[in-house]
Amino acid sequence: MDFLSKKARGITPYTAGEQLRGKTYVKLNTNENPYPPSPRVMETLARMNPDDLRRYPRPDAGRLREALAAREGVSPENIFCGNGSDEVLALSFPAFFDGDGAGACFADITYSFYEVFAAFFGVPVKIVPLMPDFTLALDAMLAADCQGYYIANPNAPTGIGIARAEMERFVASVPDRIVIADEAYMDFFGESLAPLTKKYANLLVIKTFSKSYSLAGMRCGYAVGDSALIAGLMRMKDCFNSYPVDAVAEAACVAAVQDEDYHARTVKSIVSERSRVRAELLNMGFTVPESKANFLFAGRASRSGEEIYQRLKDAGVLVRFWDKPVLRDFVRITVGTPAENDALLAQLHQILS
Ligand code: PMP
Repeated sequence: MDFLSKKARGITPYTAGEQLRGKTYVKLNTNENPYPPSPRVMETLARMNPDDLRRYPRPDAGRLREALAAREGVSPENIFCGNGSDEVLALSFPAFFDGDGAGACFADITYSFYEVFAAFFGVPVKIVPLMPDFTLALDAMLAADCQGYYIANPNAPTGIGIARAEMERFVASVPDRIVIADEAYMDFFGESLAPLTKKYANLLVIKTFSKSYSLAGMRCGYAVGDSALIAGLMRMKDCFNSYPVDAVAEAACVAAVQDEDYHARTVKSIVSERSRVRAELLNMGFTVPESKANFLFAGRASRSGEEIYQRLKDAGVLVRFWDKPVLRDFVRITVGTPAENDALLAQLHQILS
């Protein structure tokens, strides 16, 4: 007797990057931040009030909403917090897309969770291939019949970013469709659309604490948008999990948001290492699109992505590889500390020699 539903049997789940324990790797495979979170986060955690653990947290993560509203220059009613931006993205599918609607449109090469969420929530998809240079085919996306869009900006795993002005033209030209901008890596680019959510009721911006704030382990992400969109996400949350942001995560994320200086410093050093590592990879003969994120997408003629991935792994450096068309010619390398990046580059030199 198979007790699983047809859905549970039939769906292809998302595959998360390896989180290997045991052997110590130079871990450049899941776009984590190589620096620890702000010291203020650690102090806040050490000072947690037992009452905050004994009691349920605020269902809307109210204190964090306020801190984020201040950061983004909006009101708390324009902020929705969830258990990682993955959960915010997940809830956006039933909130804004119908099973019998025209569907959600996104690129063929982008964050692969969109397709999984769409399947899970029974939302049709309209997939538009990237251009040969890996940029988004925005005109083809405009021409697609759909209820709305998911656009990762910067895109994953290519790292390519779209400037705010170009994104604004896109959002403005589809007032009847929702545009969900997944800005998981935006702090490494600095062209966020969040300020434009006040002007465009069809724009939802989704961000995370996992990357630029070094808090992937906390699982917290958020959306910025018109209060009607935020209310829709709240309705979906309250059909699924009343308290997606736990008290510890809320306290940690408030502390992180309030330490702007630390955030800016770590982002700056990752951005500067990104240029250095990319230049070295180009010197070694890799093709590397210019990245606006905290990772580089690198491929080299005559070496498969799998070979590079496997030989780096054997040498103790973990990067990400996908055995899929186009992607299999590349690996995705998270930008680490200068020492981690040096280790990566040294191993690559060996592999190529
Ligand atoms: N969007 C993109 C483009 C990502 O790469 C990731 C990280 N896997 C996420 C969203 C989700 O991040 P998190 O759930 O940790 O906020």
